[in-house]
Amino acid sequence: MKYNIHYDIAAALIGLVIFFFSSVQYSSIRISNKMYKLMCLTLVLGAVLDAFTGVTSSNPDMVPMWVNMTANTVFFIMSLSIGFTYELYVSTFIHNRYRNDLNNRINIIIAVLYCILMICNIWTGWIFTLENNVYEFGPLHIITYFLPSYFVLDALAVAIMNRKAFTKKQFIAVVFYTPISAVGMLFQMLFIPDILVSYISSTLGCLVLLFTLETPDYKKLMQTMKELDEARREAQAATKAKSDFLARMSHEIRTPINAVIGMDEMILRENENDDINMYANNIQTAGYTLLSVINDILDFSKIESGKYEIVDVDYKLSTLILDCRNLILNRAEEKGLRVEVEIDETAPEMIVGDTVRVRQIVTNLLTNAVKYTKEGYVKLSVGWEKKNDNEVLLKFAVSDSGIGIAPENLDKVFTSFERADEVQNHAIEGTGLGLSITKQLAELMGGSVSVESTLNKGSTFTAVLTQKVDKYVPIGHPDLLAGQEKVMEKKVYKPKFVNPNACIMVVDDNKMNLMVIKSLLKKSGATVELCESGEQCLEKVTKKKYDIIFMDHMMPHMDGIETLKRLKALEGCINGSTPVIALTANAMSGADRIYSAAGFDGYLSKPVSYVELENLICNYVETLDKGDK
Ligand code: ADP
Repeated sequence: MKYNIHYDIAAALIGLVIFFFSSVQYSSIRISNKMYKLMCLTLVLGAVLDAFTGVTSSNPDMVPMWVNMTANTVFFIMSLSIGFTYELYVSTFIHNRYRNDLNNRINIIIAVLYCILMICNIWTGWIFTLENNVYEFGPLHIITYFLPSYFVLDALAVAIMNRKAFTKKQFIAVVFYTPISAVGMLFQMLFIPDILVSYISSTLGCLVLLFTLETPDYKKLMQTMKELDEARREAQAATKAKSDFLARMSHEIRTPINAVIGMDEMILRENENDDINMYANNIQTAGYTLLSVINDILDFSKIESGKYEIVDVDYKLSTLILDCRNLILNRAEEKGLRVEVEIDETAPEMIVGDTVRVRQIVTNLLTNAVKYTKEGYVKLSVGWEKKNDNEVLLKFAVSDSGIGIAPENLDKVFTSFERADEVQNHAIEGTGLGLSITKQLAELMGGSVSVESTLNKGSTFTAVLTQKVDKYVPIGHPDLLAGQEKVMEKKVYKPKFVNPNACIMVVDDNKMNLMVIKSLLKKSGATVELCESGEQCLEKVTKKKYDIIFMDHMMPHMDGIETLKRLKALEGCINGSTPVIALTANAMSGADRIYSAAGFDGYLSKPVSYVELENLICNYVETLDKGDK
């Protein structure tokens, strides 16, 4: 008989592809996956041998008889192995381990007996014979169909008994494997013995198993990736919501602080009673502390949402160092601490960088040093290093003889909202945000912050920042006493802006804020007109000429930007060229860009500092300043 081996070759190739695909793509730790791969290999080997014996049976003289006999014997063993491994596959899939139960033990016995029978067949010819290399069926030939089918049916029975171990799809696939493999075998046995289709049908069954039982890993991976993506998006949305909330909250809190600090300033200016002055001083300190907490939260939310911008300007290193030192001087002296400053005289004096943020970093480290030191000293050392032709690394090291940090807490100090020793630090005010912001700011400026500390001995925090230098001028020996007297001096208010002829308009929906600016300008003698809305402002500007207008940004109905737009659009308005300054409780970076783009001549952030307020007015309105001299 001539055999058609095309289907066997196709089955071997498809089986190989499935084997590699399931090995590479779904490297599962499930033992059933290993069984599946074994089944595929058996299938490939079986299909190859089926094709080989098909050819040798068609051409009796092609190979020696012993080769033909061996090939046929191994082929029949492989045919059984497919059913055997399939049953093992289903059972290990269900239990995720090999189970040495009665069923499996019987199966092993059957398989072993079958193998023995196959070997005996070489002498007995019970299964098949090869007289003159021509293949003939033996009396027990039927078992070569019957036993593999038995294993497949056994697997089906095991699957039905453990239906719950499968999903619906998987169960259908397992059930489907039985008829598809049986159909091939039956067809070949009954109708087309010369066309070898039994292997291709089993291969199709394997393919179905691949995409149902073996792919959950892949599907799970896809599902997990989808879930991760969703979780990432949710986390981003939550972070944004948190940052927005913090930004909104700090905006809301800045408005009442503006009133507290502003009104307190008026008490300090006008009151003569020492006790009341002391109370007012305390309110001022508390107000500024609260403000710095709010600023920290705002900075934190801005850094987190990636809205933080570094704005480079020209500045002098000596001024920055002295300003930072002077800022902590009072508090250090109150605690009896020595404040030392050491500057490398070769350090560059003229720097280009974000002076506000550099100050913030150095002040933060100095404030902490004073805060966490009971006695001894606080020392600021400034060094530098050339980075490249126009960049330098400025090194600010702040050491103290304070409480120090335990080694196990060193990692915590740069983490947001974490404090090194909650118990020990309980009495010291703090949010645990300062150093985290300091570190992130330093990183934004191409630098870093590090710490070395010994518990109960002291700490050294070092900030290294990249700054630009256009022209190198050494800092030399700056006058370290500069500004000290000024700090120690008791503050006596002297108005910088005085002009009784001036007319100033303030627009803000918050009455308290209106009162604050009006009060702060009391000594200037200027007329200060108050408007509670954009509409009211637009009405007034057509009637009277103002020297300067202060306009709140966030107002209900018509905000400051809209009001300004309409004001500029008023034809022939007498205030068409009046300078308009934005008032904002959102101390956002890039605010100047945003407000100048909106047509404002400048902006003031709340809480309004009277120094900034008067300086700004002096830029636009003539000051008579006489009363002051
Ligand atoms: P805060 O001071 O508001 O708690 P920081 O972020 O500035 O937050 O500091 C975090 C923690 O690092 C502090 O709570 C404190 O435990 C520790 N720390 C910071 N600076 C020093 C210092 N100079 N000496 C000792 N501990 C410090």
